[in-house]
Amino acid sequence: MDLAGKTAVITGSNSGIGFGMATELARAGADIVLNSFTNREEDHALAKGLSEEFGVEARYIEADMTDPAACRHLVNSAGQCDILINNAGLQYIASIPDFPTEKWDAIIAINLTAAFHTTAVALPMMRAAGWGRVINTASSHGLRASPFKSAYSAAKHGIVGLTKSTALETAQDPITANAICPGYVLTPLVENQIPDLMKEYDMDRDAVVRNVMLSRQPSKDFATVEQIGGTVVYLCAEAARQVTGTTISVDGGWTAM
Ligand code: NAD
Repeated sequence: MDLAGKTAVITGSNSGIGFGMATELARAGADIVLNSFTNREEDHALAKGLSEEFGVEARYIEADMTDPAACRHLVNSAGQCDILINNAGLQYIASIPDFPTEKWDAIIAINLTAAFHTTAVALPMMRAAGWGRVINTASSHGLRASPFKSAYSAAKHGIVGLTKSTALETAQDPITANAICPGYVLTPLVENQIPDLMKEYDMDRDAVVRNVMLSRQPSKDFATVEQIGGTVVYLCAEAARQVTGTTISVDGGWTAM
């Protein structure tokens, strides 16, 4: 797979799945724009590391995905955006009556609204370049819900809808738009849920992993960031040219149930 000359902008990519996607795209030859809301030495070091390992251009651009202007600025300042991956995400676990409004607003902003803003800027660039891929990180929670994850389920179902509209608006352009729906992947986002789930379900760590998380995943195994990155590379290939407006589950069978 040769993505040389293509630039991938990946929101929320200084960690977890986003960095896994960036690594696989860099391995395939794409130039990379990493992003998060921080501006630390280690953020820029991640980009330098990709550049050194794969011989591609890689930059880190700070932009807070809760801020619509920053979302748009990220894509504009990338200069070129052939592959847009809306991946930044946040989770919070609480029952609906106890769910803090500011957490609801942040989750909808980062996991859903940010993708509207970045896509709005990226599509004209892709049309001008004559090639484009929009890939949204949804979740199994874009297709199924769980208790105590109301905002996350709403945002992820929402981004599946946005993906379909994006695909229909670009159906006659050389652009595709798809959503990847991972099951559980052992990243910081999932690690951080474990203490809250222990509290909500009154279980110890092993029981939460086995009986709550992986109970939904028939493979009884976490998906990996490399597997999600490989799915992104596939979506960029000519083999996926007619794959648009759909969801691709990488969930060990979760949504087969
Ligand atoms: P993670 O916590 O490692 O990554 C989340 C990323 O989003 C980080 O880079 C973080 O800095 C960034 N981010 C958070 N708030 C931001 C903001 N305001 N502005 C910019 N960036 C921000 O977790 P992850 O598991 O790698 O999650 C990545 C995506 O994958 C998310 O959209 C998540 O919902 C989705 N997902 C994860 C799993 C899983 O099991 N880990 C499953 C399905 C979907």
